Amino acid sequence: MFMQNVDNFVEMFSNRAPKHIFSRIDMRKISSDVLKKAAALVIGAIFTALAVGSPFIAIAMADTRTVILIDAGHGGSDAGVTGTRTGVKESDLNLKVALLLGEYLEGSGYRVVYTRTADVMYGYPGVVGNKKRADMFRRGDIINGAKPAAAVSIHMNFYSSPSRRGAQTFYAKGFPQGQALAEALQKALNEGVNAQCGGRSYSALTAQKYILECSPYPTAIAECGFLSNPLDEANLCDEGYRAMLAGVLRDGIIAFLRANEKPVI
Ligand SMILES: [Zn+2]
Repeated sequence: MFMQNVDNFVEMFSNRAPKHIFSRIDMRKISSDVLKKAAALVIGAIFTALAVGSPFIAIAMADTRTVILIDAGHGGSDAGVTGTRTGVKESDLNLKVALLLGEYLEGSGYRVVYTRTADVMYGYPGVVGNKKRADMFRRGDIINGAKPAAAVSIHMNFYSSPSRRGAQTFYAKGFPQGQALAEALQKALNEGVNAQCGGRSYSALTAQKYILECSPYPTAIAECGFLSNPLDEANLCDEGYRAMLAGVLRDGIIAFLRANEKPVI
């Protein structure tokens, strides 16, 4: 039964082979054995996958989930800013919030792509001497490769006056989709974080940053709080607060997807 199916498959394929291309080769004679072996391998692999609970089938099927990109700002030798009281590194907090946000989004059914999941700074072929520039180029490549429905870059803020606090978002001028994402995130942060933690409400602002302009995909920066403010710093160092913050960011992303009629799960 099995080999007969293979024979039928080979016969069908050989008959459909475009004769004008293979005019100098008799496809039926030359490739019959090769085709039989290839077809047996393919059919065998499918049967095996079905027999073992189909993890291979799952891999073979296209992943159609909506992609969200999360960029944990800085990393490696670029720590970003540091907490005034504790000396906590921005790069570490960014990564913690980014991984938590990704976990929540995956729990909601989205496919998450990260620019980094460890304390690293990237290099880039052809860029020597300017590590930050090389790192940003690599992140840009990851965003363009992921083709996300939304991309959010996670950062922590710092200001000369220690009294300033709260979460702020940024987008690039001339990128209306990025602006819509930044505004949805800012609204969620104002309601879910700033109002509850004594911070003031902010409006999404423009910024000239490579990460915001390196792709056509909606991209925003979320500055999650000020490491120059003792209360924000204490909050951001608290695991429970970061979980709340990540939940608010997820809600802001989903609000953007809904408002822009992107596929929402
Ligand atoms: Zn930063």
